[in-house]
Amino acid sequence: MSEIENLSREDEAAIERLNDAGAAMIARTVEWAKTNTGSWNLDGLKDFAPILADAFSALEADVQLKAGDVFERVTDSGTSEEIETGPILRVAARPDAPVQVVMSGHYDTVFPPGTFTEITDLGNGRLNGPGLSDMKGGLNVMLEALKAFEAGSMKDTIGYQIVVTPDEEIGNFASAGALTEAAQSGALIGMTYEPCMETGAMSGGRKGSAVYDIVLHGKAAHAGRAKEEGRSAIEAAAELVVGLERLNGQRDGVTFNVGSIDGGNAVNIVPDLAVIRFGARAPDQEAAAWANNQIEALLDKALTRPGITGHLHGGFYRPPKPRNAAQQALFDAVSGAGRAIGLEMEFVDTGGVCEGNNIFAAGVPNVDTLGVRGGRIHSSEEFVETDSFSERAALSAMILNRLADGRIDGKKIKALMP
Ligand SMILES: [Zn+2]
Repeated sequence: MSEIENLSREDEAAIERLNDAGAAMIARTVEWAKTNTGSWNLDGLKDFAPILADAFSALEADVQLKAGDVFERVTDSGTSEEIETGPILRVAARPDAPVQVVMSGHYDTVFPPGTFTEITDLGNGRLNGPGLSDMKGGLNVMLEALKAFEAGSMKDTIGYQIVVTPDEEIGNFASAGALTEAAQSGALIGMTYEPCMETGAMSGGRKGSAVYDIVLHGKAAHAGRAKEEGRSAIEAAAELVVGLERLNGQRDGVTFNVGSIDGGNAVNIVPDLAVIRFGARAPDQEAAAWANNQIEALLDKALTRPGITGHLHGGFYRPPKPRNAAQQALFDAVSGAGRAIGLEMEFVDTGGVCEGNNIFAAGVPNVDTLGVRGGRIHSSEEFVETDSFSERAALSAMILNRLADGRIDGKKIKALMP
């Protein structure tokens, strides 16, 4: 079969429309990148959310901005504080259509205000700027692909739930509930718009990611007059940290990293507080459970020290997304859609995590790097390839068209989930 035979008339119409929309997608992405939406910049997030909602109002859908869940963060002094983020964009269309899709993306970036603001044309079709790839560009790809799909005749076959979050770069703690809810409202597959690699390669299997805080309390005492009355939280923490790092290499694909230790005070005071912050990654659910058990055992051991109390916060906030049969079937289907428009598709396993992990954990197979081609993300060298806007929007439109006319059997793919 030739590639042309793989294109329906609907496909051809969408491709043409999305070619024409390329310049507008680029211009809007650049415009969006001018508002700083660093994950902790509440003012910037609140300013930007209505702009986003307005753009998505072009869809034949119900568009709402909703407050996220308040979440807790352990402070350096070992207490918990409540954190508020920007609104979550929720878009819902045709909930009774036979094929339901969950789509997601984020509008926060890793850049605090004033750190990286310039948008620079690097030449050769590359633009450098904050969030152009990760992922304001991807949001435009999602939006235009849906507009193209809705302009076609198969619109009524597909309904969708979109969640665009303000807190992906810090772990989706405020929006995880919204992602799960959207995924579990009947979605057969998920489509998330993280950038793919510069080469066009997309993410295959993803590890799970955990963030933990351990708070240890000891007993303060004067180090000279009454050292024996004190109980050092730092000493307990030190043994625990060494134990955590020694877990590395004990199980395939599982890694631990202690990122910071806070606590203590003057050198003449036995320290009564230590806060250990660390991360863990695991390739599958069993490995994640193993990691969690090891951590709890180390904490239990620390708490057998006289006068030491403490507790563990956190866990695998993004469960692993292994390349199971459902994922592989979806990757194959997406590859077919890509080949029809001349894309050589490749899926590469990664230790990185994203909303695709959450959607997978909610029981929905998904592909999560449907955004623009780009690179150097999370650095001031972040760039986007401008010719990827039309290309990647067309890829999404091909997937939607195939889901709508049955060339991709969403039900069959979903049924492969354990
Ligand atoms: Zn991202």
